[in-house]
Amino acid sequence: MGQHMAMPAKEIWFLTGSQNLYGEETLRQVAEQSQKVVEQLSSGLKAPLEIVWKPVVKTTDEIKAMLVAATASDDCVGVITWMHTFSPAKMWINGLDALKKPMLHLHTQAGQSLPWATIDMDFMNLNQAAHGDREYAHILSRMDVARKVVVGFPADPRVRQEVDAFAWATIGWDKAQHLRVARFGDNMRFVAVTDGDKVAAQITFGMSIEQLSVNTLADAVLAVSDADADALCKVYQDEYDVAPELCFGADRYESLQYGAKIEIALRSILEAGGYSAFTSNFEDLGTLRQLPGLAVQRLMADGYGFAGEGDWKTAAMLAIVKAMTPSGGGTSFMEDYTYHFGPGTPKVLGAHMLEVCPSISGEKPKIEIHPLGIGGKEDPVRMVFTAKPSLGRVLCLADMGARFRIISNEIKIVEPTEDLPNLPVARAVWEPEPSLAISAEAWMLAGGSHHTVLTNSVSQETLEDFARIAGVELVEIDGTTTSKGLRKELQWSSAYHRLVNRSV
Ligand code: MN
Repeated sequence: MGQHMAMPAKEIWFLTGSQNLYGEETLRQVAEQSQKVVEQLSSGLKAPLEIVWKPVVKTTDEIKAMLVAATASDDCVGVITWMHTFSPAKMWINGLDALKKPMLHLHTQAGQSLPWATIDMDFMNLNQAAHGDREYAHILSRMDVARKVVVGFPADPRVRQEVDAFAWATIGWDKAQHLRVARFGDNMRFVAVTDGDKVAAQITFGMSIEQLSVNTLADAVLAVSDADADALCKVYQDEYDVAPELCFGADRYESLQYGAKIEIALRSILEAGGYSAFTSNFEDLGTLRQLPGLAVQRLMADGYGFAGEGDWKTAAMLAIVKAMTPSGGGTSFMEDYTYHFGPGTPKVLGAHMLEVCPSISGEKPKIEIHPLGIGGKEDPVRMVFTAKPSLGRVLCLADMGARFRIISNEIKIVEPTEDLPNLPVARAVWEPEPSLAISAEAWMLAGGSHHTVLTNSVSQETLEDFARIAGVELVEIDGTTTSKGLRKELQWSSAYHRLVNRSV
């Protein structure tokens, strides 16, 4: 991800609950040992944030003050709670009522093994999580506090990995809370799935979806100097294989130069407005001479969310999933384009007209120019490449009217069966789990969109944690999915969401 998208270091606060019953010496040990737990968790953390130890909370007032502070802090993106001793849970009610940050309940102990030969009542007095955490969890369940529960010793790789998955989800949630999506033009006419309730999206995810005139962009493109565009074209020539006809001095260089002007203009509008995602619509390009292709691909590579045809939900999800993508991982806008039913394992050929992110590429992208066939504009410049083989997933955010639903499908990205010499767009080929037939049936039964976010990096667990934090339904299509089971899940889930009676 580009440096300009780097966020200031965020924090997850580690809160240890106790009470004043035990005396100073025990509370000193609680503080010391909880700091050790933070060190152990931190050393296994890959997510780019810090787990910050906070002083042990022992009373109703201390607990409320801490959880109000966590809620108010811009740096704090989540809390981990642990009851090393016993912390009577009525003391937590007022604080939990005020907490608006994602929670992980860590059910652990300071030591991995019991000291069988030496265990005495002092040890029993100090190491009470086995029942202290159950008292605390009771009130979480009674108050219906959404949380992840992780059980085990903090140096255990499984425990660390579960905490890390949660940490990534809190980064995605923080991104959603601050996300601004710029829409250049409206949704493509008559298309259902790219439309949706932008107010409900802000209530649910915090994101702001804002319309900008496409001519704001077109005017900004006109204002970019040839010299600035030429300098960017030199960067293209350094980083990619640029087609000879697009090189400086060649016949069609001016098209590449215009593409560079789009990138410079788009980047400056997004930066000035604090936008980290955007949409375009080929039906509404104003006085733009080309559909933005290369510029969109380069911005996605820098961490921006994007989707075509005014699809703000996919653009937003792309920005969120990119925020949860580890450095070196790949995440792109994608569209199920066309199928290979056989022979061999059935496959999806995914692409978009132009706009696929090079972070999923397995090769140095080529920059080429070809006719587009839609939009009635000049031929657009674009990067052409094939996605590298990997496990991954495609996911989407669907507006079901009364609520949002995230749908995710595990996939295996593979090499194309044969070369694609006549297809001048970036593409990915994959085999969906459990099979193309069941995956596509399940996806369509769930109402998933044809636009998706494809990632080769973000784990199923992080996505589950994100959906739980957002309070949004997650339909997972994976190796265990059956069409019978999926139909039942959708029916039960529909009944559940009517019963909980949330308005968004
Ligand atoms: Mn599309």
